[in-house]
Amino acid sequence: MEANISGEDCCVKVAVQIRPLIGDERLQGCKDCVTVVPGKSQVQIGTHSFTFDHVYGSTGSPSTAMFEECVAPLVDGLFQGYNATVLAYGQTGSGKTYTMGTSLKDGCQTGLIPKVMNALFSKIETLKHESEFQLHVSFIEIHKEEVRDLLDPSSASKQEIANGHAGKISIPGRPPIQIRETSNGVITLAGSTECSVKTLREMADCLEQGSLNRATGSTNMNNQSSRSHAIFTITVEQMKRLHPGISGDGILNDCMTEDYLCAKLHLVDLAGSERAKRTGSDGLRFKEGVHINKGLLALGNVISALGDEKKRKEGVHVPYRDSKLTRLLQDSLGGNSRTVMIACISPADINAEETLNTLKYANRAR
Ligand code: ADP
Ligand code: MG
Repeated sequence: MEANISGEDCCVKVAVQIRPLIGDERLQGCKDCVTVVPGKSQVQIGTHSFTFDHVYGSTGSPSTAMFEECVAPLVDGLFQGYNATVLAYGQTGSGKTYTMGTSLKDGCQTGLIPKVMNALFSKIETLKHESEFQLHVSFIEIHKEEVRDLLDPSSASKQEIANGHAGKISIPGRPPIQIRETSNGVITLAGSTECSVKTLREMADCLEQGSLNRATGSTNMNNQSSRSHAIFTITVEQMKRLHPGISGDGILNDCMTEDYLCAKLHLVDLAGSERAKRTGSDGLRFKEGVHINKGLLALGNVISALGDEKKRKEGVHVPYRDSKLTRLLQDSLGGNSRTVMIACISPADINAEETLNTLKYANRAR
Protein backbone atom coordinates (compact mmCIF):
# COMPACT_ATOMS: atom_id res chain seq x y z
CA MET A 1 0.00 0.00 0.00
CA GLU A 2 1.52 3.27 -1.12
CA ALA A 3 -0.31 6.34 0.01
CA ASN A 4 0.46 9.85 1.01
CA ILE A 5 -1.12 12.88 2.55
CA SER A 6 -1.59 16.01 0.53
CA GLY A 7 0.85 18.80 1.27
CA GLU A 8 -0.74 22.23 0.98
CA ASP A 9 2.33 24.38 0.59
CA CYS A 10 3.96 22.17 -1.99
CA CYS A 11 4.92 24.14 -5.07
CA VAL A 12 4.12 21.23 -7.38
CA LYS A 13 0.56 20.07 -7.84
CA VAL A 14 -0.12 16.69 -9.37
CA ALA A 15 -3.29 15.70 -11.17
CA VAL A 16 -4.14 12.41 -12.83
CA GLN A 17 -6.09 12.26 -16.06
CA ILE A 18 -7.58 8.86 -16.85
CA ARG A 19 -8.74 8.69 -20.41
CA PRO A 20 -11.55 6.33 -21.46
CA LEU A 21 -10.77 2.99 -23.12
CA ILE A 22 -10.13 3.73 -26.78
CA GLY A 23 -11.16 1.82 -29.90
CA ASP A 24 -8.07 -0.36 -30.11
CA GLU A 25 -8.28 -1.37 -26.48
CA ARG A 26 -11.97 -2.20 -26.79
CA LEU A 27 -11.27 -4.30 -29.87
CA GLN A 28 -8.66 -6.24 -27.92
CA GLY A 29 -11.19 -6.81 -25.17
CA CYS A 30 -9.21 -4.86 -22.57
CA LYS A 31 -10.59 -4.50 -19.09
CA ASP A 32 -10.54 -1.35 -17.01
CA CYS A 33 -7.98 -1.89 -14.25
CA VAL A 34 -7.91 1.56 -12.66
CA THR A 35 -10.30 2.54 -9.88
CA VAL A 36 -10.97 6.00 -8.52
CA VAL A 37 -12.04 6.26 -4.91
CA PRO A 38 -15.02 8.63 -5.02
CA GLY A 39 -14.50 12.00 -3.44
CA LYS A 40 -10.91 11.19 -2.48
CA SER A 41 -8.61 11.99 -5.43
CA GLN A 42 -7.29 8.50 -4.92
CA VAL A 43 -6.35 6.05 -7.65
CA GLN A 44 -6.09 2.30 -7.19
CA ILE A 45 -4.44 -0.18 -9.46
CA GLY A 46 -3.98 -3.74 -8.28
CA THR A 47 -2.85 -3.57 -4.66
CA HIS A 48 -1.42 -0.08 -5.09
CA SER A 49 -3.15 3.06 -4.02
CA PHE A 50 -2.05 6.67 -4.61
CA THR A 51 -3.46 10.01 -3.55
CA PHE A 52 -3.01 13.10 -5.72
CA ASP A 53 -4.22 16.69 -5.68
CA HIS A 54 -6.86 15.96 -8.30
CA VAL A 55 -8.05 12.97 -10.28
CA TYR A 56 -10.01 13.35 -13.50
CA GLY A 57 -11.50 10.24 -14.95
CA SER A 58 -13.49 9.06 -17.89
CA THR A 59 -16.62 9.08 -15.78
CA GLY A 60 -15.59 12.04 -13.69
CA SER A 61 -15.40 15.75 -14.33
CA PRO A 62 -15.14 17.21 -17.80
CA SER A 63 -11.89 18.78 -18.96
CA THR A 64 -13.13 22.23 -18.02
CA ALA A 65 -12.81 21.17 -14.37
CA MET A 66 -9.13 20.37 -14.87
CA PHE A 67 -8.57 23.74 -16.47
CA GLU A 68 -10.44 25.64 -13.76
CA GLU A 69 -8.83 23.82 -10.85
CA CYS A 70 -5.29 23.29 -12.06
CA VAL A 71 -4.42 25.74 -14.80
CA ALA A 72 -6.58 28.87 -14.50
CA PRO A 73 -4.76 29.92 -11.28
CA LEU A 74 -1.48 29.74 -13.21
CA VAL A 75 -2.87 31.99 -15.94
CA ASP A 76 -3.97 34.49 -13.27
CA GLY A 77 -0.52 34.27 -11.72
CA LEU A 78 1.06 35.47 -14.96
CA PHE A 79 -0.57 38.84 -14.35
CA GLN A 80 1.18 39.04 -10.99
CA GLY A 81 4.51 38.12 -12.56
CA TYR A 82 4.68 34.45 -11.60
CA ASN A 83 6.17 31.99 -14.07
CA ALA A 84 4.46 28.64 -14.38
CA THR A 85 4.76 25.24 -16.00
CA VAL A 86 2.17 22.64 -16.92
CA LEU A 87 3.55 19.21 -17.78
CA ALA A 88 1.73 16.28 -19.33
CA TYR A 89 3.48 13.04 -18.45
CA GLY A 90 2.65 9.48 -19.42
CA GLN A 91 3.25 6.62 -21.80
CA THR A 92 2.59 7.00 -25.51
CA GLY A 93 -1.13 6.80 -26.16
CA SER A 94 -2.11 7.84 -22.64
CA GLY A 95 -3.62 11.16 -23.72
CA LYS A 96 -0.88 13.77 -23.22
CA THR A 97 -1.38 15.49 -26.54
CA TYR A 98 -5.15 15.30 -26.25
CA THR A 99 -5.03 16.78 -22.75
CA MET A 100 -2.64 19.60 -23.66
CA GLY A 101 -4.21 20.35 -27.01
CA THR A 102 -0.94 20.24 -28.93
CA SER A 103 -2.44 18.42 -31.86
CA LEU A 104 -4.45 19.44 -34.85
CA LYS A 105 -6.40 16.21 -34.92
CA ASP A 106 -8.01 16.45 -31.54
CA GLY A 107 -7.51 18.49 -28.48
CA CYS A 108 -7.10 21.71 -30.40
CA GLN A 109 -10.61 22.61 -29.33
CA THR A 110 -10.86 20.82 -26.02
CA GLY A 111 -7.29 20.73 -24.76
CA LEU A 112 -5.72 22.91 -22.10
CA ILE A 113 -3.74 25.21 -24.41
CA PRO A 114 -6.81 26.54 -26.25
CA LYS A 115 -8.43 27.11 -22.87
CA VAL A 116 -5.35 28.94 -21.63
CA MET A 117 -5.42 31.18 -24.69
CA ASN A 118 -9.09 32.01 -24.20
CA ALA A 119 -8.61 32.79 -20.52
CA LEU A 120 -5.55 34.91 -21.26
CA PHE A 121 -7.28 37.09 -23.81
CA SER A 122 -10.42 37.50 -21.67
CA LYS A 123 -8.27 38.61 -18.77
CA ILE A 124 -6.37 41.05 -20.97
CA GLU A 125 -9.68 42.46 -22.17
CA THR A 126 -10.68 43.26 -18.61
CA LEU A 127 -7.30 44.82 -17.82
CA LYS A 128 -6.58 46.74 -20.99
CA HIS A 129 -7.52 50.08 -19.50
CA GLU A 130 -5.03 49.70 -16.69
CA SER A 131 -2.21 48.03 -18.54
CA GLU A 132 -0.63 47.58 -21.89
CA PHE A 133 0.30 44.05 -22.89
CA GLN A 134 2.77 42.41 -25.16
CA LEU A 135 2.50 38.72 -25.82
CA HIS A 136 5.08 36.39 -27.29
CA VAL A 137 4.88 32.77 -28.20
CA SER A 138 7.57 30.23 -28.83
CA PHE A 139 7.12 26.58 -29.65
CA ILE A 140 10.07 24.24 -29.57
CA GLU A 141 10.74 20.60 -29.15
CA ILE A 142 13.58 18.78 -27.51
CA HIS A 143 14.54 15.70 -29.40
CA LYS A 144 17.60 13.67 -28.49
CA GLU A 145 18.85 16.55 -26.32
CA GLU A 146 18.65 18.96 -29.22
CA VAL A 147 16.35 21.96 -29.23
CA ARG A 148 14.38 22.49 -32.39
CA ASP A 149 12.27 25.46 -33.37
CA LEU A 150 8.73 24.51 -34.37
CA LEU A 151 7.90 28.05 -35.45
CA ASP A 152 10.78 28.48 -37.85
CA PRO A 153 9.16 29.02 -41.23
CA SER A 154 12.15 27.45 -42.95
CA SER A 155 11.79 24.29 -40.88
CA ALA A 156 12.11 21.16 -42.96
CA SER A 157 10.24 19.06 -40.47
CA LYS A 158 7.02 18.90 -42.50
CA GLN A 159 8.93 17.28 -45.30
CA GLU A 160 10.67 14.95 -42.90
CA ILE A 161 7.37 13.74 -41.54
CA ALA A 162 6.02 13.26 -45.02
CA ASN A 163 9.07 11.19 -45.88
CA GLY A 164 8.87 9.23 -42.68
CA HIS A 165 12.38 10.28 -41.77
CA ALA A 166 11.58 12.28 -38.69
CA GLY A 167 14.62 12.58 -36.51
CA LYS A 168 17.06 11.23 -39.05
CA ILE A 169 17.75 14.43 -40.90
CA SER A 170 19.50 17.31 -39.27
CA ILE A 171 18.57 20.55 -40.89
CA PRO A 172 21.59 22.17 -42.48
CA GLY A 173 22.39 25.84 -42.21
CA ARG A 174 20.57 26.56 -38.98
CA PRO A 175 22.61 27.36 -35.91
CA PRO A 176 21.58 25.27 -32.94
CA ILE A 177 19.28 26.93 -30.45
CA GLN A 178 20.99 27.60 -27.17
CA ILE A 179 19.61 27.78 -23.70
CA ARG A 180 21.13 30.72 -21.85
CA GLU A 181 20.80 32.16 -18.40
CA THR A 182 20.97 35.89 -17.77
CA SER A 183 22.73 37.31 -14.72
CA ASN A 184 19.39 37.59 -12.91
CA GLY A 185 18.49 33.97 -13.52
CA VAL A 186 16.17 34.37 -16.48
CA ILE A 187 16.40 31.51 -18.96
CA THR A 188 16.32 32.47 -22.63
CA LEU A 189 16.40 30.52 -25.84
CA ALA A 190 18.91 32.09 -28.17
CA GLY A 191 18.10 31.55 -31.81
CA SER A 192 14.49 30.44 -31.53
CA THR A 193 11.51 32.23 -33.07
CA GLU A 194 9.56 34.44 -30.70
CA CYS A 195 6.29 35.37 -32.37
CA SER A 196 4.73 38.58 -31.24
CA VAL A 197 0.97 38.01 -31.12
CA LYS A 198 -1.84 40.51 -30.71
CA THR A 199 -4.92 38.37 -31.07
CA LEU A 200 -6.26 35.01 -30.04
CA ARG A 201 -6.31 34.00 -33.69
CA GLU A 202 -2.61 34.80 -34.10
CA MET A 203 -1.73 32.77 -31.05
CA ALA A 204 -3.85 29.85 -32.24
CA ASP A 205 -2.08 30.03 -35.60
CA CYS A 206 1.28 29.60 -33.84
CA LEU A 207 -0.01 26.53 -32.05
CA GLU A 208 -1.30 25.15 -35.29
CA GLN A 209 1.86 25.82 -37.28
CA GLY A 210 4.10 24.34 -34.62
CA SER A 211 1.92 21.27 -34.24
CA LEU A 212 2.24 20.70 -37.98
CA ASN A 213 5.99 21.02 -37.78
CA ARG A 214 6.32 18.73 -34.84
CA ALA A 215 8.48 15.78 -35.58
CA THR A 216 6.90 12.48 -34.98
CA GLY A 217 8.45 9.08 -35.08
CA SER A 218 6.69 5.79 -35.23
CA THR A 219 6.96 3.01 -32.74
CA ASN A 220 4.97 -0.14 -32.65
CA MET A 221 2.91 1.28 -29.81
CA ASN A 222 1.46 4.28 -31.57
CA ASN A 223 2.71 5.49 -34.89
CA GLN A 224 1.60 9.04 -34.17
CA SER A 225 3.47 9.18 -30.93
CA SER A 226 6.07 11.80 -30.45
CA ARG A 227 9.48 10.90 -29.19
CA SER A 228 10.16 14.49 -28.24
CA HIS A 229 9.17 16.99 -25.59
CA ALA A 230 7.08 19.79 -27.12
CA ILE A 231 7.10 23.08 -25.24
CA PHE A 232 4.64 25.84 -26.07
CA THR A 233 5.60 28.98 -24.18
CA ILE A 234 3.54 32.13 -23.72
CA THR A 235 5.30 35.22 -22.41
CA VAL A 236 3.20 38.06 -21.01
CA GLU A 237 4.73 41.50 -20.66
CA GLN A 238 2.61 43.96 -18.78
CA MET A 239 3.13 47.69 -18.54
CA LYS A 240 0.81 49.33 -16.04
CA ARG A 241 -0.47 52.68 -17.15
CA LEU A 242 -0.39 55.67 -14.88
CA HIS A 243 -3.66 57.50 -14.88
CA PRO A 244 -3.44 60.70 -16.86
CA GLY A 245 -2.80 63.58 -14.57
CA ILE A 246 -0.23 65.70 -12.90
CA SER A 247 2.62 63.83 -11.29
CA GLY A 248 4.43 64.90 -8.18
CA ASP A 249 6.79 67.23 -9.98
CA GLY A 250 3.93 68.98 -11.76
CA ILE A 251 4.59 67.48 -15.19
CA LEU A 252 1.66 66.19 -17.19
CA ASN A 253 2.07 62.51 -17.98
CA ASP A 254 -0.64 61.00 -20.05
CA CYS A 255 0.44 57.42 -20.46
CA MET A 256 3.61 56.78 -18.58
CA THR A 257 4.50 53.31 -17.51
CA GLU A 258 4.63 52.87 -13.82
CA ASP A 259 5.19 49.21 -13.43
CA TYR A 260 6.56 46.43 -15.56
CA LEU A 261 5.90 42.71 -15.13
CA CYS A 262 7.01 39.83 -17.25
CA ALA A 263 6.06 36.20 -16.77
CA LYS A 264 5.90 33.08 -18.84
CA LEU A 265 3.88 29.93 -18.94
CA HIS A 266 5.35 26.73 -20.36
CA LEU A 267 2.88 24.14 -21.59
CA VAL A 268 4.77 20.91 -22.02
CA ASP A 269 3.71 17.79 -23.87
CA LEU A 270 6.40 15.41 -22.68
CA ALA A 271 7.79 12.50 -24.64
CA GLY A 272 6.32 9.08 -23.98
CA SER A 273 7.50 7.70 -20.66
CA GLU A 274 7.49 4.03 -21.68
CA ARG A 275 10.74 2.15 -21.36
CA ALA A 276 12.74 1.73 -24.55
CA LYS A 277 12.37 -2.04 -24.39
CA ARG A 278 8.61 -1.75 -24.56
CA THR A 279 8.71 -0.08 -27.95
CA GLY A 280 10.35 -3.23 -29.30
CA SER A 281 12.51 -1.24 -31.63
CA ASP A 282 16.23 -0.82 -31.87
CA GLY A 283 18.87 1.39 -33.43
CA LEU A 284 17.71 4.95 -33.76
CA ARG A 285 14.56 4.56 -31.78
CA PHE A 286 16.40 2.96 -28.90
CA LYS A 287 18.86 5.84 -28.81
CA GLU A 288 15.94 8.25 -28.66
CA GLY A 289 14.57 6.29 -25.77
CA VAL A 290 17.80 6.72 -23.87
CA HIS A 291 17.77 10.48 -24.43
CA ILE A 292 14.12 10.84 -23.60
CA ASN A 293 14.68 9.01 -20.39
CA LYS A 294 17.46 11.46 -19.59
CA GLY A 295 15.03 14.40 -19.74
CA LEU A 296 12.29 12.62 -17.86
CA LEU A 297 14.74 11.30 -15.30
CA ALA A 298 16.16 14.76 -14.67
CA LEU A 299 12.64 16.21 -14.46
CA GLY A 300 11.66 13.59 -11.91
CA ASN A 301 14.72 14.42 -9.82
CA VAL A 302 14.15 18.18 -10.02
CA ILE A 303 10.49 17.94 -9.14
CA SER A 304 11.08 15.55 -6.32
CA ALA A 305 13.79 17.82 -4.89
CA LEU A 306 11.39 20.78 -5.12
CA GLY A 307 8.53 18.88 -3.54
CA ASP A 308 10.55 17.80 -0.55
CA GLU A 309 10.08 20.57 1.96
CA LYS A 310 12.82 19.29 4.23
CA LYS A 311 15.30 19.21 1.37
CA ARG A 312 14.19 22.66 0.24
CA LYS A 313 14.78 24.12 3.68
CA GLU A 314 18.24 22.59 3.74
CA GLY A 315 18.87 24.33 0.43
CA VAL A 316 19.63 21.06 -1.28
CA HIS A 317 21.00 21.13 -4.83
CA VAL A 318 18.30 20.95 -7.50
CA PRO A 319 19.78 19.18 -10.54
CA TYR A 320 18.43 21.46 -13.28
CA ARG A 321 21.54 21.12 -15.40
CA ASP A 322 21.18 17.40 -15.96
CA SER A 323 19.07 17.78 -19.12
CA LYS A 324 18.01 20.35 -21.69
CA LEU A 325 14.41 20.03 -20.55
CA THR A 326 15.07 20.92 -16.91
CA ARG A 327 17.58 23.60 -17.90
CA LEU A 328 15.00 25.26 -20.10
CA LEU A 329 12.32 25.10 -17.41
CA GLN A 330 14.69 26.15 -14.62
CA ASP A 331 13.23 29.61 -13.98
CA SER A 332 9.69 28.27 -14.17
CA LEU A 333 9.97 25.31 -11.82
CA GLY A 334 10.47 25.97 -8.14
CA GLY A 335 11.11 29.31 -6.49
CA ASN A 336 8.06 31.51 -6.91
CA SER A 337 6.81 29.58 -9.91
CA ARG A 338 3.88 27.28 -9.97
CA THR A 339 4.00 23.82 -11.47
CA VAL A 340 1.26 21.39 -12.34
CA MET A 341 2.06 17.90 -13.47
CA ILE A 342 -0.71 15.99 -15.18
CA ALA A 343 -0.08 12.27 -15.18
CA CYS A 344 -1.98 10.81 -18.11
CA ILE A 345 -2.95 7.17 -17.88
CA SER A 346 -4.84 4.55 -19.84
CA PRO A 347 -7.33 2.48 -17.86
CA ALA A 348 -6.63 -0.67 -19.90
CA ASP A 349 -5.24 -3.78 -18.21
CA ILE A 350 -2.63 -4.28 -20.98
CA ASN A 351 -1.11 -0.97 -19.92
CA ALA A 352 -1.15 -1.73 -16.21
CA GLU A 353 2.64 -1.93 -15.87
CA GLU A 354 3.26 1.46 -17.51
CA THR A 355 0.30 2.99 -15.68
CA LEU A 356 1.83 1.91 -12.39
CA ASN A 357 5.17 3.41 -13.46
CA THR A 358 3.44 6.68 -14.32
CA LEU A 359 1.64 6.83 -11.00
CA LYS A 360 4.89 6.10 -9.14
CA TYR A 361 6.69 8.84 -11.05
CA ALA A 362 3.88 11.30 -10.35
CA ASN A 363 3.83 10.25 -6.73
CA ARG A 364 7.48 11.23 -6.37
CA ALA A 365 6.51 14.74 -7.40
CA ARG A 366 4.39 15.25 -4.34
P1 ADP B 1 -0.22 10.66 -26.24
O1 ADP B 1 -0.03 12.07 -26.69
O2 ADP B 1 0.01 10.49 -24.78
O3 ADP B 1 0.57 9.68 -27.04
P2 ADP B 1 -2.85 10.98 -27.35
O4 ADP B 1 -3.20 12.31 -26.77
O5 ADP B 1 -2.40 10.99 -28.76
O6 ADP B 1 -1.75 10.26 -26.45
O7 ADP B 1 -4.09 10.03 -27.14
C1 ADP B 1 -4.12 8.69 -27.63
C2 ADP B 1 -5.51 8.39 -28.13
O8 ADP B 1 -6.46 8.46 -27.09
C3 ADP B 1 -5.98 9.38 -29.19
O9 ADP B 1 -6.70 8.66 -30.17
C4 ADP B 1 -6.91 10.30 -28.43
O10 ADP B 1 -7.92 10.81 -29.27
C5 ADP B 1 -7.47 9.41 -27.37
N1 ADP B 1 -7.74 10.14 -26.12
C6 ADP B 1 -6.83 10.63 -25.28
N2 ADP B 1 -7.39 11.24 -24.22
C7 ADP B 1 -8.73 11.14 -24.39
C8 ADP B 1 -9.86 11.57 -23.63
N3 ADP B 1 -9.72 12.24 -22.47
N4 ADP B 1 -11.09 11.30 -24.12
C9 ADP B 1 -11.23 10.62 -25.29
N5 ADP B 1 -10.19 10.19 -26.04
C10 ADP B 1 -8.96 10.43 -25.61
MG1 MG C 1 1.31 12.77 -28.11
